Amino acid sequence: MKVVVIGIGLIGGSIALDIKFLHPDASIFGIDNNENHLQEAINLGVVDAGTTYEDLIHADFVIVSVPVDISLTVLPKVLDAIGENTIVFDVGSTKTPICEVVANHPKRRNFLAAHPIAGTEFSGPSAAIRGLFQGKTNIICEVEKTTFKLQEKAVQLFTTIGMRIRYMDPVSHDKHIAYVSHLSHISSFMLGKTVIDKEKDEQDIFDMAGSGFESTVRLAKSSPAMWTPIFKQNKKQVVKTLEEYISNLSKFKELLENDDFEAIFNEMQSVNRIKEILNGIHIKK
Ligand code: NAP
Repeated sequence: MKVVVIGIGLIGGSIALDIKFLHPDASIFGIDNNENHLQEAINLGVVDAGTTYEDLIHADFVIVSVPVDISLTVLPKVLDAIGENTIVFDVGSTKTPICEVVANHPKRRNFLAAHPIAGTEFSGPSAAIRGLFQGKTNIICEVEKTTFKLQEKAVQLFTTIGMRIRYMDPVSHDKHIAYVSHLSHISSFMLGKTVIDKEKDEQDIFDMAGSGFESTVRLAKSSPAMWTPIFKQNKKQVVKTLEEYISNLSKFKELLENDDFEAIFNEMQSVNRIKEILNGIHIKK
């Protein structure tokens, strides 16, 4: 099995590590515009060697794992270069622009739009970890536009690395993911900003940061190079979620200003059911 990963960072690298573990005989090649990342990925054993677009014609799998704005130029170029039996999938956090850019490509049927809902706040090949996708969901969009035997090949790979599959149209994906992922990142970034702006003495932050602050602000360590294009591509949905979030924050502030602690208690109590909701999702796994 010959696999090419384009963009050997956290996600592309983690998929490469899982494939190598499950299929030790697989040859895994990397393409990355960052020469240091490519060398680091080879040194860490994430990929076997570098390769070029000319070689994609011989690949069984091509995994495109670059920032979502870059995917818009990389994907058509990849589809131009692949062989008839190559399956290409992306892992981008937005799906509508990516599905649109390949919509009329003559090799559209060799492409599967995917979004593995798994990750960490770290990036680059050193962030790649084996087992990252175990028990996680992979959202697949417009599955009907991919040749059946190639869909099967990709889905088999996703399931062997531990993912369960959900099918969704790209617009619904972008709408739902804006709430659970994109808004969470903005709220973490802005929480970090609020505290940094106020606490000029960083030692005080460090001394007083409990696990609550640390876990809430974890996503603020994420890469701006990855997140700016996501917010740009999903701007409409993200603005909508921000409006709702800001309105909730304002209401909370108002309750506090009005000493309405009973309403504050009730508000928090009703949100406590997030535990059951998340446990429910967990049980369905
Ligand atoms: P990452 O760790 O930063 O890896 C991306 C890699 O792609 C970097 O090495 C980057 O190099 C390289 N790259 C940039 N432009 C390229 C090009 N034209 N050709 C080849 N390589 C190129 O990012 P990631 O977190 O793995 O994210 C990759 C994709 O996964 C994104 O589309 C993201 O939306 C999606 N995703 C991320 C997460 C997450 O939690 N991080 C979860 C699910 C899906 P430079 O660093 O030098 O630019």
